[in-house]
Amino acid sequence: MNHVMPTYARVPLTLVKGEGTYVYDDQGHKYLDFVAGIAVNTLGHAHPAIVDVMCKQSATMLHCSNLYAIPQQEKLADKLAELSGLGQVFFCNSGAEANEAAIKIARKYFYDMGCSKHVVITATQSFHGRLLSTLTATGQDKVKIGFAPLPKGFKHVALNDLEALEHTIDDQTAAILLEPLQGEGGVNLADVDYLQGVRSLCDQHGILLMLDEIQTGIGRTGAMLACEHAGITPDVLTLAKGLGGGVPIGAMLASDKVAASFSAGTHGSTFGGNPLSCAVALAVLDTIEKENLLQNVRDRSVQLQAGLTSLVAQFDGLESIRGQGLLLGLLCKDEVTPVIEACRAHGLLVLSAGNHVVRFLPPLNVSHAEVAEMLVLFEASLQEVFA
Ligand code: PLP
Repeated sequence: MNHVMPTYARVPLTLVKGEGTYVYDDQGHKYLDFVAGIAVNTLGHAHPAIVDVMCKQSATMLHCSNLYAIPQQEKLADKLAELSGLGQVFFCNSGAEANEAAIKIARKYFYDMGCSKHVVITATQSFHGRLLSTLTATGQDKVKIGFAPLPKGFKHVALNDLEALEHTIDDQTAAILLEPLQGEGGVNLADVDYLQGVRSLCDQHGILLMLDEIQTGIGRTGAMLACEHAGITPDVLTLAKGLGGGVPIGAMLASDKVAASFSAGTHGSTFGGNPLSCAVALAVLDTIEKENLLQNVRDRSVQLQAGLTSLVAQFDGLESIRGQGLLLGLLCKDEVTPVIEACRAHGLLVLSAGNHVVRFLPPLNVSHAEVAEMLVLFEASLQEVFA
């Protein structure tokens, strides 16, 4: 009997080893990995920079508690502050925890001002995590079934509809929480002028703009943060997934003004920002810079989109390409499960985003040759499904 709770519909595949963009199953079969642990394995598998820092840091100190100063955490906070323009960082262990911290700080910020604003507005089709607060923030009903009573204080509006958003803001609104590019919800891009408009609305109404960059952050879209494409700085920003390159870490960044509401005893996490996870995250950021991976993301994105565009022209079952950088989606006319299964049989791992979108999330250091190989495997899989 399997004693693991069946919260995931697992595919019949046991991955036991990874090397760069390739993974191997327990039968020795090799797969090209365009899932990367759902946007986690930023540098692919077993990158020497991560192996090295894991060995060194675990031989020195894995964990010591946030009761003490942690130099790796301070250094990582400096780096994240520098790249985001936000002065303070709270560390946790996952995306949902980072968003929970964002929701809490928004409430506390207005509480400290003696003000009753507490409602967080998010987008329909958004995904913000599986905690009670974050599944309530999520703009998809399917994740909420059976978990009532849900916490109060959340509203949802359609993405890219600035007018609807403006009408939803009232004197109870504390913050707007958005993914600049929705991942789980179907690879839906927030328009640049929409994001700029949301920034202005927040300034006008004195409310907080909070961006969930858990899937888009740390280079995934071809910029370190996706909000750079719109030239905006949020008041609060959340990171996880790609930051640790495979080691669990989450971060909630806030402007100095907002961060002042989190003082000693207001929030915490036993494991959050421990020496190991912070040392690895520093190695990830360092490697992105040294290997010029943002440029690689942009180049490989152009290559992958060009290849997918010709496949859209070739196969009737395919509609269009969406996304940015190496968070790309292919909208299909029918359910995508047969495509994903055919890919797996051809030695290619891809995933879905909703029922009709195939999602591609290769490591940021995927090579030209690997993208070319992926396109060959993908075409062969499509031939089989649409034959
Ligand atoms: N926010 C976004 C945008 C995500 O894509 C995810 C996970 O897919 C989360 C939050 C939740 O992150 P975690 O699964 O680490 O709790």
